[in-house]
Amino acid sequence: MLHGMSAPTDTPQVHAAATVARLHGTFATGRTKPLAWRKAQLRALRRLLVDQEAAFAAALHADLGKSATEAYTTEIGFTVNEIDYTLRHLDRWLRPRRVRVPLSLRPARARAVREPLGTVLIVSPWNYPLQLALAPFVGAIAAGNCALVKPSELAPATSAALAHWLPRVLDRDAVAVVEGGVPETTALLEQRFDHVFYTGNGTVARVVMAAAARHLTPVTLELGGKSPAVVEPGTDLAAAARRIAWGKFMNAGQTCVAPDYVLAIGDAGPAIEPHLAAAVREMYGDDPAAAGDYGRIVNERHFDRLTALLPSGRTVTGGSHDRADRYLAPTVLADVDPDSPVMCEEIFGPILPIVRVPDLDAAIAFITARDKPLALYAFTASARTKRRLAAETSSGALAFGVPNAHLAVPGLPFGGVGESGQGRYHGHHSLETFSHLKAVLDKPLPLDTLRLAYPPLTPGKSRLL
Ligand code: NAD
Repeated sequence: MLHGMSAPTDTPQVHAAATVARLHGTFATGRTKPLAWRKAQLRALRRLLVDQEAAFAAALHADLGKSATEAYTTEIGFTVNEIDYTLRHLDRWLRPRRVRVPLSLRPARARAVREPLGTVLIVSPWNYPLQLALAPFVGAIAAGNCALVKPSELAPATSAALAHWLPRVLDRDAVAVVEGGVPETTALLEQRFDHVFYTGNGTVARVVMAAAARHLTPVTLELGGKSPAVVEPGTDLAAAARRIAWGKFMNAGQTCVAPDYVLAIGDAGPAIEPHLAAAVREMYGDDPAAAGDYGRIVNERHFDRLTALLPSGRTVTGGSHDRADRYLAPTVLADVDPDSPVMCEEIFGPILPIVRVPDLDAAIAFITARDKPLALYAFTASARTKRRLAAETSSGALAFGVPNAHLAVPGLPFGGVGESGQGRYHGHHSLETFSHLKAVLDKPLPLDTLRLAYPPLTPGKSRLL
């Protein structure tokens, strides 16, 4: 260092190191372990979400044009439900589980005990910037950890709201929010955490996993991919189209579990086209730009990426756009070639291509030839088709008759497989992710039944164990 110059104190590195050291210090005191502390934090978070619902809804509107209703159902209310479900079951989830001891080791008692991991990092994306920061956070706190949340810089209003409110209502020595983008996240990832929970894309996930490997820190990776919606002839196509349009165009298609494309078997392809157009009209009217319930694309970069995908097929409905407003109409494309640009990457926007395959065998071959999706949806009246899809494909989730809704079943695990991620959360699955299941064995010393195991080991002795 040059004479007369002091070390900078406000770099992302210095800030990250100081924040993480503070959280590690708090965890070391044991303060976050008692059930009472965990519940008090969860209740305080719940109160915050209820009291400041309007402020959070305004932030979500500023970032993504979400309507107040959508902001509540998919973000604020969703998180409140996760808190309520956790509070209702936490005592039971944390109860030590007694385990049977084999005869040869008796007398002894064995149990499996959940202990917190320590300090965990949660890095979240912009598309559900509140839910995807706070739902894992609920699990981290319920498990008795200190937690650092790094919200997405691409949803700046929600990020600022989280950074403003969380330290005000929660234990600020145990909970921190660090705002910022790549430099700040990189600085955080240099620190040693006890778990890293990342939601976002597969490219950054590799950076996160490599950084975590340096400290041998376990990771949960909640990623995306192309989730197909298989549609078979013989199903109620009007109802299927409404469900698919609902799941796809919510949040302007920027939903990790949204149906990415329709995989239409046989005649279901052309037959579902008018139903999808009708469903869009029913939900968003003739001018979706004016519909209060229709969101906007997060930024110009994503807007340009999406509009470049529009020539990938024949427009069934939609296609109009306005860059100044980051508006892209709910769009359905037919006659889409499986090798066209729209089929080569996760769309993550309001474009729904229809790809046709001749039969179920071809549909299954299409799915299994690609990355394992975060979700697979199927609209079919056939129990045999359901059985075959369940047995012959792999995906983070499999849902029949409805997209996206499995997230709202708190008892179901939520997570991907392969390229769509690793690990899972929600409800008690979050508790499992954010805790260690410790084996505890307690064998009294006085009655030394183990004498039979001590050397010298005669053949007769070893068989007794
Ligand atoms: P994003 O750009 O907000 O990135 C996510 C996080 O990674 C942010 O906090 C960001 O700051 C951080 N980040 C970005 N670049 C980084 C780098 N080089 N090093 C370290 N950190 C970095 O969000 P995104 O990735 O565009 O999110 C969209 C993707 O996330 C889609 O693929 C979507 O399917 C997926 N997704 C998955 C889920 C899920 O639950 N499985 C939920 C939402 C989104």
